[in-house]
Amino acid sequence: MEIDAGRQQKARAYARVRRRLSFVNMGIAAVGLLLVFVLGLDKWLRNVIQGIAFLIWQPVHGWSPLQILLYFLLAVLAYQLITMPIVYYSGYVLPHRYGMSTQSVRGWARDFLKGFVLSLVLEAAAVTLIYGLLAFQPLTWWIWVAVVMLFFSVIMANLAPVLIFPLFYKFTPLPEGELTRRLLTLMQRAHTRVRGVYTMQMSNKTTAANAALMGLGNTRRVVLGDTMLDRYTVDEIEVVLAHELGHHVHRDIWKLIVSQAVLTLGGLYIANLLLHGVVAQGFYISLTDAATLPVFFLLMGVFGLVVMPISNGYSRLIEYQADEYALQSTGKVEQFKSAMTRLANQNLSEIEPSPIVEFLFYSHPSIGKRLRHADEFAQRRDYTFNASASAPS
Ligand SMILES: [Zn+2]
Repeated sequence: MEIDAGRQQKARAYARVRRRLSFVNMGIAAVGLLLVFVLGLDKWLRNVIQGIAFLIWQPVHGWSPLQILLYFLLAVLAYQLITMPIVYYSGYVLPHRYGMSTQSVRGWARDFLKGFVLSLVLEAAAVTLIYGLLAFQPLTWWIWVAVVMLFFSVIMANLAPVLIFPLFYKFTPLPEGELTRRLLTLMQRAHTRVRGVYTMQMSNKTTAANAALMGLGNTRRVVLGDTMLDRYTVDEIEVVLAHELGHHVHRDIWKLIVSQAVLTLGGLYIANLLLHGVVAQGFYISLTDAATLPVFFLLMGVFGLVVMPISNGYSRLIEYQADEYALQSTGKVEQFKSAMTRLANQNLSEIEPSPIVEFLFYSHPSIGKRLRHADEFAQRRDYTFNASASAPS
């Protein structure tokens, strides 16, 4: 198995276009928010909404949840409409041009809509929670929001494999056979268990391959894309399964949830300081003024940018450890390397991205690094083996 030079060239071009598109997206958001603040659109929209009689309901003095919800919906819809051409181009046109998508435009639109509605509902709930707590607990709201979000993400991690992901993908249990036997052996050796192995039908959407550990508690499972099953050897898939099992053994889903919660708490604390500041300066009527929503959007955008390299760095560490686990538990260095090579060729992954790009955007170590990790593991193992073989008994 060799890295395909032609595919690598294509991978670099593909990554470059996608990066540029995300910069354009960021630029639109930044300019849009600037215009909102400079032109006073934030207050203009609040005044328009305040004029609508049936939205005036106030469970607590100063907090009008319906006004805030409508404000939120209109702002999100406006942003979505403006960025729709880019969303369509980067989600549908570009992957087709690079041979990465197998989806019809109708299928793509259906997935997009499902995702959009789902996140809109969750975000609307979060906005209501945040402003409700701002009304009741103006000083400690940020702690409560972080606590509720932590609980919610634990519940979601548990429910997502049975409630959310099936909205987008079809899952079928992997039939009893060589692969399930190998995973069972790996699990027995590690004295651990996941609830099952499933194949995920991805081939009707993408040509890329993927595998993952999903779920918490009674829903934890290993998932293999069907785009991997037909093209990889049993040994290669065993190494991939071992990597996912490594995530389970290391309790990585918990680690990610907790680390995310800590970052969120920090972000909310800063939001708290800023919000009190702008209200004290008289920019807004109160903490629960609907016109403060764009301030939240701005904060979330900046927060996302600052946190991205931190959570990606942590994720790369966790992925490195799962690779190490896969190498140790199977000992199959060559198969690990051929699986990685196949992945790079199939998924149009740059094997050697520039260090700054990897630092900022990569949730996994680059394939080049993962291949070198395998070599370094083999050297380490041979060294230990030779050392113990030559030691006097
Ligand atoms: Zn992983």
